[in-house]
Parts: sequence; structure tokens; C-alpha cells
Amino acid sequence: MSQKALVEFKDLHTEFYTEAGVVKAVSGVSFQIRPGETVCVVGESGSGKSVTALSLMRLLANNAKIVKGEIIFDGRDVLKLKPHEMRRLRGNEIGMIFQEPMTSLNPVLTVGEQIMEPIIEHRMFSKREARKYAIELIEMVGIPRAHEIVDAYPHELSGGMRQRIMIAIALSCEPKLIIADEPTTALDVTIQAQILDLLRKLKSEKNVALMLITHDLGVVAEMADYVVVMYGGRVVEEGKVMEVFKNPRHPYTEGLLKAKPIIGERKERLYTIPGQVPSPLNLPLYCHFADRCPYVMPVCKEQYPDTFIDADGHKVACWLHAEGARA
Ligand code: SF4
Repeated sequence: MSQKALVEFKDLHTEFYTEAGVVKAVSGVSFQIRPGETVCVVGESGSGKSVTALSLMRLLANNAKIVKGEIIFDGRDVLKLKPHEMRRLRGNEIGMIFQEPMTSLNPVLTVGEQIMEPIIEHRMFSKREARKYAIELIEMVGIPRAHEIVDAYPHELSGGMRQRIMIAIALSCEPKLIIADEPTTALDVTIQAQILDLLRKLKSEKNVALMLITHDLGVVAEMADYVVVMYGGRVVEEGKVMEVFKNPRHPYTEGLLKAKPIIGERKERLYTIPGQVPSPLNLPLYCHFADRCPYVMPVCKEQYPDTFIDADGHKVACWLHAEGARA
């Protein structure tokens, strides 16, 4: 665990300015991703997990601003990079895969042209070399007839094939990190499993780190080395995946695990965490989970919990663990 971090989020705060008021989408998020590691960032929609990734890529909407904190990528403070340095970082060192490839792929360019574009721009390949490499990448992501597919348009491919093309684009510049935001949510179960297998295979072959954003604990169990649980714009628990699954310390994580369907186990009704996620427009100053928590205590409604850490490095932001060491 002493390996130097590839990515380090340090006390990140990102806000959105809307007509209804200021949305504190991310408040004080800190965690690390090491080279070659898969970190799953898990939480419900609105928990701040995608905004954390978009803050790293500096691809936030115009009404959003990073108001505090640092993001260090491979020794550089991303928030201080000039726009052209940022473009180079995005195309060259960080690849991205989104949920719905149809909206990320350009419908008027062939998939080959879209794979070739970053290779020509960032790796200075000639057009001929880039096309040859694009065909190799299409083969590598498991699409047959790569010589024909290279000239196909996105609408001519299935959803699973389009997601494979997104992975080929993300890999094209041999990045150190791939960010995948709900990469399998829009796909059917069989294709989902194939895409996860592919990501796992490529990750081990290329030793690329993976920041996988998901609401699906099944995906976390299959893919993660390390898991970061977010709720209401904050990290509420983080640790090695086995440790968090075996011994969840935050009541929210406990609820998520209880709500997870288990293959082969029939339950009358799937458990759901009672109550609602608090509005990001109006987050309390105390524990964001307090209104849904079965263990709520008076202190929980007085101040936001500190983060406590155990000997294994398993961290939790919850007053139930106040006897532990402060992180
Ligand atoms: Fe529940 Fe209190 Fe822990 Fe919040 S701090 S999760 S309310 S026990």
C-alpha cells in the first residue's frame, strides 16, 4: 500500500450554481488511486461520484466550479494545468468510457476515424499507421471482422460493439488511467458481463489503473481492488473491497449490501433503504445520512462525523466508530 498514488483527490469541493441555488455536489472528497489498481466509486445517483471524475478531467458544465482542494495526477496538480496541457492529459494519459456510447461517439465519423483521431494528434502516427493500429485495437477489444468494422458508422453497430469501440478509443493512447462511468448500465446482462471481462483482461495486460463509477455492487464485487462509497457529496466509507464487503462499517454501506440481490438466493422482497437522499441544494451540516439511519444518535444531528480509520486502513465517517483513530 506504500506505492505512490497515481491520482490523489485532496479535499475536493465542487459546486454548481443553479437558479434554485448553490448545489454542493462534492464536499471535501479525498482518496487515492494507485497505478494498476481498480477503484470503484459507488453510490446512488446524485452522490457526487460522476462529478468527482469530471472534476479530474476538468469537463464540468459551465455553471460548475471547483471551489477548493487539489487533484494530483502523476505528480501534477491538474487544477493548475493550462488548457492545452489539460487536453494532452485527457487524450494521452487518461481515457474515458461513458454509459451511453451513442452519445459519446460522433455519428458522422466512422469508428476507425474516431479511434485514429487521438492517435494522430497525441502519438504523431501517420494516417496509414493510425489506421493499422485502429484495426489492431478493434481486434483487441474482441470485435470480429475488424478490417470491415473500421469503416462502419456507430449506428451500424450494436450497443455492446459501440461500448467496445469506446474502450478501443480510451486505450488508443495507452493511458495510465481509464475512467469508466457506469460503462455497462445501458447494456443487457450478457453483454455487461462480456464488457466487464474485457476491461479486466485489458487492465491486467496493460497495467492501467481503472476508476470505475457505478451504483451496482455486483460490478464492485467483480472488479474492485478498493472501494470508495459516496453519499450526499462526501466519502462515507473506503477500504479494500473484501474488507468493506465482509465488514461494512457505515450504516449506508450496510444498507446498500442488504439491498443487493444475491444470485441463487430468493428473497420475498428486495430490501430498500428507507427514506430519501437529501437534496443537494439543502444539505444539513450534520451527518447527511441521519434521516435514514437506523442507528441515529443525538450527536449525529449536531455535527458532521469525523473520519475514523482502523489498523487495515479501512476508513469510515460515522459517529458509531468514534472510538477509532481519526484519519
Ligand atoms: Fe448513522 Fe450517526 Fe453514523 Fe450518520 S453518524 S451514519 S446518523 S450513526
